[in-house]
Amino acid sequence: MDNIRNVVIMGSGCAGHTAALYSARANLKPLVLEGHEPGGQLSLTTLVENFPGFPEGIQGPELIENMRKQAARFGAEYQHGHVVSADLSKRPFTLHFGKETIQTRTLIVASGASARWLGLPNEQALIGHGVSSCATCDGFFFSGKEIAVIGGGDSAMEEALFLTRFATKVTLIHRRDQFRASKIMLDRARHNGKIHFLTDTVVDDVLDASKKEVTALKLRNVKTGKVWELTASAMFLGIGHVPNAKMFAGQLDTDQDGYLKTTNYVFTRVPGVYACGDVQDRRYRQAITAAGTGCMAALEVEKLLEEEGR
Ligand code: NAP
Repeated sequence: MDNIRNVVIMGSGCAGHTAALYSARANLKPLVLEGHEPGGQLSLTTLVENFPGFPEGIQGPELIENMRKQAARFGAEYQHGHVVSADLSKRPFTLHFGKETIQTRTLIVASGASARWLGLPNEQALIGHGVSSCATCDGFFFSGKEIAVIGGGDSAMEEALFLTRFATKVTLIHRRDQFRASKIMLDRARHNGKIHFLTDTVVDDVLDASKKEVTALKLRNVKTGKVWELTASAMFLGIGHVPNAKMFAGQLDTDQDGYLKTTNYVFTRVPGVYACGDVQDRRYRQAITAAGTGCMAALEVEKLLEEEGR
């Protein structure tokens, strides 16, 4: 008996839990390192209506907790922490997280993607003081206030709709006049009397860092050049995500935006290292597709270890 793990799974979103379920049921005793956002994006969302099997929909946090319980029932182990660096140059692979080091024969990277920020001069100073990327976490604090939401995809629509529970007015600001959002989400937002759309508009800055609260957004119309200030008590971002793969720089291939490159769905260029879910999927990015690739990665691990006589 050695201390080398059969499989370590990085990340505890939909992909990670599904990989854990399958590898636990294959008796591989997977270790899941939960990452810095345990539960991933589903834990920050509200009603999930498009995961098959739930005709009335299910709350994201409940869905992800159920996945975790299901994997744990078959012996998956969970540990807090996220990998800061790794040596994938030889097997077993070495992973560093916190003060600990783990060795593993195979690795499933399911580290997902984290919210993207705009990079405004005062943005970072106001995170937690009215600037947020999570409506479900922070919306409640802005009851009776006017709120701005940035983005033109499903996340922005979902955030705007959710925030109408608290806000007197939600201004949805999008840099173009075409939307990536699905028709159903866009229609819902358009038909909500509390949501006002500002298109062809970008945010140049958020005020007021000196007061440690959001008071207004500096806006600019990209077609007319007009600049003005919009009064708002909060700015919620729904502008997409950045894949969490920096710890593998130089060891695994990425595309120009940092998504891990895979072949045959889940194979990285290092034998024994598989990637699944949002860290490698820039096209579909759905809970169900993340679960699907999590399953594939676990099946590949099982196959490889079996071929190696483990
Ligand atoms: P997304 O579809 O990539 O949309 C990101 C939006 O942010 C785009 O409108 C983009 O503008 C804008 N944006 C990006 N960078 C920006 C910047 N620097 N400044 C201003 N605007 C910027 O991302 P998402 O909305 O997070 O959705 C990701 C995936 O999850 C999608 O597949 C979506 O369908 C899915 N999702 C589904 C649901 C649901 O079904 N309930 C909910 C949430 C997410 P441009 O359009 O101009 O590029």
